[in-house]
Amino acid sequence: MISTSPQSPNDTVIEVPSLTVDQVQLASRRARAAGRGWSGAPASERAGHLHSAAAAVEAQVDSLTALIVREVGKPFTEARAEITRSVAILRYHAQQALDPCGDVLPSADGKGLLFTRRRPRGVAGLISPWNFPVAIPLWKAAPALAHGNTVLLKPSPEATATAARLGDILNTVLPPHVFTVVPGEAATGAAVVDTVDAVSFTGSERVGRAVIRDASARGIPAQAEMTGQNASILLADADIEQASRVIMGSAMAFAGQKCTATSRIIIVGNPSTVVEALVVAAAEIIVGDPADPSTMAGPVISTQARAQVLAARDQARAEGGRLLTRHEDPEGAGWWVTPTLVDGLAQDSDLHQREIFGPFATILNADDVEHAIALANNTRFGLVTSLFTRDLGAVLPYLDNIDSGLVRVNTATTYVDLHAPFGGERASSMGPREQGKAARDLYTSVRTITVAAP
Ligand code: NAD
Repeated sequence: MISTSPQSPNDTVIEVPSLTVDQVQLASRRARAAGRGWSGAPASERAGHLHSAAAAVEAQVDSLTALIVREVGKPFTEARAEITRSVAILRYHAQQALDPCGDVLPSADGKGLLFTRRRPRGVAGLISPWNFPVAIPLWKAAPALAHGNTVLLKPSPEATATAARLGDILNTVLPPHVFTVVPGEAATGAAVVDTVDAVSFTGSERVGRAVIRDASARGIPAQAEMTGQNASILLADADIEQASRVIMGSAMAFAGQKCTATSRIIIVGNPSTVVEALVVAAAEIIVGDPADPSTMAGPVISTQARAQVLAARDQARAEGGRLLTRHEDPEGAGWWVTPTLVDGLAQDSDLHQREIFGPFATILNADDVEHAIALANNTRFGLVTSLFTRDLGAVLPYLDNIDSGLVRVNTATTYVDLHAPFGGERASSMGPREQGKAARDLYTSVRTITVAAP
């Protein structure tokens, strides 16, 4: 398996063999054996280990940032913020290890003891995408470990080097076989699902559905966070220039490669002035060398990803859409493609429906808030929806009508609070929510214990 740099495809970042099914099973047996000591240790000890893990990752902020920039082309400033957030995630879940782990309920006879207690599932199998190569593994691993599980992490092939480095860093402070990276492709991921006690997946809808199906067949708990097709709704009374900048950042920063990226912009009223503001904001996105701190969008991850954006442009033209952005895709090696903003497509165009996963966004027009929300809901997916307005009263009554797991007012679709539940509705998500206290629902089971009075 070879992972190359998207800005310099001749730069091989790492070359490693994919782990075989036997190797995954061996790693799983070791993780299960290590779990006895890990889950049996006092919670304060696990908390201490996770605080040490946070310090170890923090000490490597520069080297990890540089590796993320090189391996997945994430702009420096965002890559660094990802590490800072990852450290905060580890610290948050270190403290969660000390949270109450059950409830006391009134007993049936009024004298005995009736209580619940959470216990770990065992070995947690984490399958991650390439776009947040440190934060996603850690927002899964930190709660899994805090609650007493051990972990097998199957990273994306495109982020193998970053995952290997993260594994090395964590293994300087964690006991052996508590956190194991199992590099590989689809077969390695399937082998993980086949051997662990709980699965947390983030990635595409196609693979997520297969993972959920395979986990269900084994009767193990699973969650899948998948594709988004997110809308930003821009009302006429919003601060149009400021909102346009935020929306374009959501759509095009990191070349649009976030599950929470805005891919549909729904304008309510005043379309021409708003479209002008959006075009200006699109032109302000700085595309260039991801190692430069001022860069907002580097290349996309692969030649296939680039071809997908170019094909979407062609399709938009063929369908009579207007390409509102100038496309001077940087020359030279690397999978460069500049922001693309399209309007004038029919409402039923599949370009409003299909995840392009690149710097590509479409514009739709709505008559009023209700119409805008109906358009926003007109997709199989439901991860995030943002609304921009100065009149909160005008949107508040409608927030419950939005079919997405995250609803955000006057802020980008792309930010995630590490202490709040995260996940989508409809085809974007299956199983319990991730992050915050919600994360423990996957990584623990609740047992009910009755002690009758003597
Ligand atoms: P992907 O689905 O191609 O791969 C995700 C992971 O699944 C990789 O580690 C891959 O090797 C593994 N895998 C592939 N086939 C498998 C199988 N049969 N069994 C088990 N594992 C298998 O996704 P990607 O290209 O790495 O990431 C981009 C996608 O991820 C986009 O669709 C994006 O929307 C989504 N994403 C979602 C979220 C979210 O939280 N909802 C966050 C980031 C990315």
